[in-house]
Amino acid sequence: MHGFDFDLFVVGGGSGGVRASRIAASHGARVGIAEAYRLGGTCVIRGCVPKKLMMYASQFRGAFEDAWGYGWNIEGPYVHDWPRMVAARDEEIDRLEGVYRGLLDRAGVAVFQGRAELDGPNRILVDDQIITAKTILIATGAAPVRPDIPGAKFMATSDDIFSLRKAPSRVAIIGGGYIACEFSGIFSGLGAQVVQLHRGEQILRGFDDELRDHLADQISRRGVDLRCSIQVTAVERTHDGMSVYLSDGSTLEVDTLMIAAGRQCATSRLGLDTVGVEVDDIGAIKVDQFSCTTNPGIYAVGDVTNRVNLTPVAVQEGHAFADTVFGGRPRAISHENVPNAVFSQPQAASVGLSETQAKAKYPNVKIFGSSFRPMTAVLSSRDERALIKLVVDASSDRVLGAHIVAADAAEIIQGLAIAIKSGVRKADMDATLGVHPTIAEEFVTLREPR
Ligand code: NDP
Repeated sequence: MHGFDFDLFVVGGGSGGVRASRIAASHGARVGIAEAYRLGGTCVIRGCVPKKLMMYASQFRGAFEDAWGYGWNIEGPYVHDWPRMVAARDEEIDRLEGVYRGLLDRAGVAVFQGRAELDGPNRILVDDQIITAKTILIATGAAPVRPDIPGAKFMATSDDIFSLRKAPSRVAIIGGGYIACEFSGIFSGLGAQVVQLHRGEQILRGFDDELRDHLADQISRRGVDLRCSIQVTAVERTHDGMSVYLSDGSTLEVDTLMIAAGRQCATSRLGLDTVGVEVDDIGAIKVDQFSCTTNPGIYAVGDVTNRVNLTPVAVQEGHAFADTVFGGRPRAISHENVPNAVFSQPQAASVGLSETQAKAKYPNVKIFGSSFRPMTAVLSSRDERALIKLVVDASSDRVLGAHIVAADAAEIIQGLAIAIKSGVRKADMDATLGVHPTIAEEFVTLREPR
């Protein structure tokens, strides 16, 4: 114990911090963890999980609309009970928080409720309590940012959205990233008029260009007023909502203005300067491949390091850290070929390289793709098209990337991620039989490159 209270003290009880704590404890370390808000972190408490439950809630509208084509007589208007959805959602979040607490308790991890701050080498202050630890792990995540414009305080971040006590009927959402695309579909499905405002020329910067164009078109067809190349310049409160002033000179009147303009690493007031932990120019903690910071006794995992900001990545980074430092098994995780999905409606999902990224890296790239009407849309007469796309290195026949826009795209990409991670070749995909009739089978029936 070297005279320390703990072998490991973890700052932040989200996905990365909790996994690291449990695994380190299983390797025999004495572990403490501090969480300022609720165990489970962004993903469980105000991110992936409540968002996905709301996405499910919002999808019923489409199902009701489609039902007639399949012979069901379901008459509108469809009335949604927002407080009932919120109560059910929050009950599930409470349950999951309890599960996280139980996992830590059973692993023998001491949980401290409070804000932690580093206070010199091996010392942590949790509120007024001084704790010492041989090793410290920072897993504080990130928090939503607000633009610096008049009235920004009236905007609701993704944190605030989960506390809305009644359904908004007129919503504007700023952003063209994950959160904006997901919530435009959620609010629209739940019956609101939605305007999505993106400053760039196209949503989802960094994704495959064809996927971006296709998804933008589908989002618009679903009834979201998606506007690109536009900025919010100011916001003012009105008697029944707010006025949102736009860069094209127009104004929107809304009940809720959601801001989804990215997240800032949660490093302020952590006392990093007292222990020589360096951050980069956007405030992310600098780490090496083993998640070690510029102080050899302090590590960091998850969004606070701004590597790939996704829950499963944080979990794996936390696990690898614990194996490395306490399990005698040093290992680094790969940040390549990480599958990701946007739970928009329809969903968009990708793994590996986009067409543009592949062409910048390989001299001879072949593109296989197809856009088609999914079977579900036929009887319902829904104006929907799916997109699938494979990016292949023609020299080695290796599949470099897979991209999809379709209902259940997230479920489909997981299997493709295994194949691409394992170095699948296009010939292997051609030799694989499809599951018929599905959207996913199109991935094994693409014969001619474009
Ligand atoms: P993203 O980084 O995905 O998108 C931010 C968006 O906001 C971009 O479209 C960006 O435009 C725009 N933007 C940035 N600054 C401004 C500004 N000052 N004014 C107007 N627009 C601006 O962030 P999100 O907030 O959507 O999500 C945060 C992170 O959470 C994601 O990066 C992701 O890691 C994670 N997440 C993952 C999910 C999933 O896996 N399904 C779901 C939700 C979140 P531009 O492109 O021009 O920079």
